[in-house]
Amino acid sequence: MKVCKFGGSSMASSETIKKVAAVIRSDDSRKYIVVSAPGKRFSGDIKITDSLLNTFAESKKGGNIHALLAPIKARFVEIAEGLEVQDKVDLESIFKEIEAGIAASSIPDYAAAQGERLSAMLLAAYLGFEFVDAKEVVRFSDNGSFNAEYTNDVARKHLLAKESGVVMPGFYGSTSVGQIRTFSRGGSDVSGAIVARAVKADIYENWTDVNGFLTADPRIVENPRKIPELSYRELRELSYMGANVLHPESIFPVRKANIPINIRNTFEPENPGTMILPGVIQHDRLITGIAGKKGFVSILIEKSMMNNEIGFTRKLLSVLENLNMSFEHLPSGIDTMNLILSGSEIGGKLQELIGGIREAVSPDRVEVQSDLALIATVGHGMAYRPGTASRLFTALSRAGVNIKMIDQGSSEMNIIVAVKGDDYERAINAIYEEFIN
Ligand code: ADP
Ligand code: ASP
Ligand code: MG
Repeated sequence: MKVCKFGGSSMASSETIKKVAAVIRSDDSRKYIVVSAPGKRFSGDIKITDSLLNTFAESKKGGNIHALLAPIKARFVEIAEGLEVQDKVDLESIFKEIEAGIAASSIPDYAAAQGERLSAMLLAAYLGFEFVDAKEVVRFSDNGSFNAEYTNDVARKHLLAKESGVVMPGFYGSTSVGQIRTFSRGGSDVSGAIVARAVKADIYENWTDVNGFLTADPRIVENPRKIPELSYRELRELSYMGANVLHPESIFPVRKANIPINIRNTFEPENPGTMILPGVIQHDRLITGIAGKKGFVSILIEKSMMNNEIGFTRKLLSVLENLNMSFEHLPSGIDTMNLILSGSEIGGKLQELIGGIREAVSPDRVEVQSDLALIATVGHGMAYRPGTASRLFTALSRAGVNIKMIDQGSSEMNIIVAVKGDDYERAINAIYEEFIN
């Protein structure tokens, strides 16, 4: 039995939803369906989730919720009419309820979740499947963290009891008192994985708008090759480092149950896509894929004899802990340490962070560099073959890219470099040319 998640581009319009339905109907084992909110229909279009979040933000500033919801409602009416299910889903009264719900919310989660909810209702009506609301199945704790084991028990009982096919909205769930909570953006991938684990699916199919997991971001490298098979660990490294075709947390539920993930293209359903499997995959190539992200900040801390100072790193990291910040990397040299954090993690607290570091470890020098990008070159194949790093660095230097930091994961399957944000695209293309093309 298969669990299928369809992303925003697959759910964007009645035409694309008909393609989704054709995929589902072509295989009787596609019984549990998880969907995203309607995404972009064309470049420059707005995702429903963004419109809903914007409605919430404006409503908090005293904006007119009714007027802001009008274009969102119009888009759903158009989808319902295109699918001829307008008599089965009462959008009129649902939008009244959403308007009141947003007005009463103090956090954005309720608003953000409504796109998935409606998307699932409309697809369920079109397929003749049962709509199961994620708020009955996916449980969050009151502090907003996902409660995996409770959810798994509830979801299993709830979903396996269904006779017919089921459509469930992705992205959200609720707390024990029924307050709606969402995962981070792209979180419908996580919901699909949760359902796959709960019903012990044979496979978790993740249907999107590309032919699988590609060796690099297709928005940066022209026509990158597909990765036919990928290991869970490679997936985790690549998705965490920015290959946002799959949410980085979607691996955890399926890994517990050893369920393969199959990335597929709704618009080219005959393409077998990418299989993501447990264990180690033998690839022909040294490198499996490249991923990266912009928006990192490096804080260089220099102090003579820091390596001899007992407790230096602990004192440094306690500054982060007190500010409730996590870091990405902490490479060190003789008398230097380089703290790499994402800019969003620092938020507006850079001065506080630097002040805290000065106080805690009395450095000789602190130097901040913002607008860095991190690039991960990932592959099991690297672990056994010497010379990979030198080829990587040579390729970057040939492209005129200056490397600001290097970190090779202890697994030896991932080399991460930091480069200037402006060099990001050039660096990715240089690595791609060296190892993949
Ligand atoms: P969905 O709406 O189906 O969840 P997403 O937009 O979240 O789809 O993810 C698919 C997109 O991810 C692709 O259209 C592509 O632009 C982007 N992407 C970035 N890196 C990769 C990669 N390594 N492989 C495939 N797609 C990637
Ligand atoms: N609709 C949500 C988002 O845009 C969740 C998802 O698509 O997975 O982030
Ligand atoms: Mg996605």
